[in-house]
Amino acid sequence: MRGRVVVCKEHNQPFVIEEYEVPELEPGAILLRMVQSGICGSDLHYWRGDQAQAPLPPTGRVMGHEGYGVVHSLGRGADRDSLGRRLREGDRVVYTAIFPCNRCHMCLKSMGNLCVNRPFPAAGDYPYFTGTYADYLYLPPGHPIFLAPDGISDEVLAPVNCAMGTVTQGLISAGAEAGDWVVVQGAGGLGLTATAVAKDMGAHGVIVLDRLENRLELAREFGADYVININEYDTPEARIERVWELTRGRGADVVMELVGLADLLVEGVEMLGNGGTFVEIGDIVPGRTVALDPSTLLKGKRIVGSLMYPAHLIPRILDFLERNLETRPFHKIVSHKFKLEDVNKAFPQAEWNARQTEVTRAVLAP
Ligand SMILES: [Zn+2]
Ligand SMILES: [Zn+2]
Repeated sequence: MRGRVVVCKEHNQPFVIEEYEVPELEPGAILLRMVQSGICGSDLHYWRGDQAQAPLPPTGRVMGHEGYGVVHSLGRGADRDSLGRRLREGDRVVYTAIFPCNRCHMCLKSMGNLCVNRPFPAAGDYPYFTGTYADYLYLPPGHPIFLAPDGISDEVLAPVNCAMGTVTQGLISAGAEAGDWVVVQGAGGLGLTATAVAKDMGAHGVIVLDRLENRLELAREFGADYVININEYDTPEARIERVWELTRGRGADVVMELVGLADLLVEGVEMLGNGGTFVEIGDIVPGRTVALDPSTLLKGKRIVGSLMYPAHLIPRILDFLERNLETRPFHKIVSHKFKLEDVNKAFPQAEWNARQTEVTRAVLAP
């Protein structure tokens, strides 16, 4: 049996679709047939070549990390999910999108999401199916995997193992709690999810900033109590003042940067009340800097970076989705769907839409 794998051979150039023989499963391994794979901001950055920490291997790099699939085949002994439930061929499953080395000091501290050796798989390296833009995905023995509840549709499951995990962990890293004021910078897929998760965690008020009215309208559907159109409040000072006004003089407890603009750090820290936490998630491209007055951090303000999530969050996110399916339009997060063979149409369009800021998330469906 053979399957297709999308490979980045050269930055900013069309991807090449290669075919490989599906390897025989080791004991404990699981082969998934991919159903939907998300185009995440980091995939766009990698394609453009502005993530310098991960140079292209000579054979090219296998693309895609977000997505979900169904069980195609089970290696010997791999008959249970991580919660001990029976797995069968055809079951819909969500797995963690992190493939840690399991031997670096961060992995040994049970922080595989911060693994220092996170591999960026080279094309042609065993087991070949190491990215989600492919017909199959090979999960090595012991990889965390969870049965997906029947009631959650394919579109809703696709972003669970990157976008949803990342923002949920961001709020946890910030120490968000009931009664908080949470500010969300950016109403894309990450921002909409963060809004719903913050409300679910008991936030008293969520304030979402964006420049497009249709996205702000969507933010309201995801639970935003207030929205700020940055075209209307068109200076950092005006936006900071508006947040202090809306929070009735308390300032925000948590500000989440989900846009990828370095300047939002300075603005966000000023929106925080004393003891508040700024969470950096969106600004993943190295080399951008800001001028920050360290004295603004006195009075207990914190700045934390957050990357991916620990695997145990996945079943909690699936529970969160089930709990909120009736009230939040999660099916609207995925706005564009492309066939795998159209990956070279999908990327420029996701890019174009990102500039127009109308796309929330695009997916590839093999
Ligand atoms: Zn991602
Ligand atoms: Zn590691």
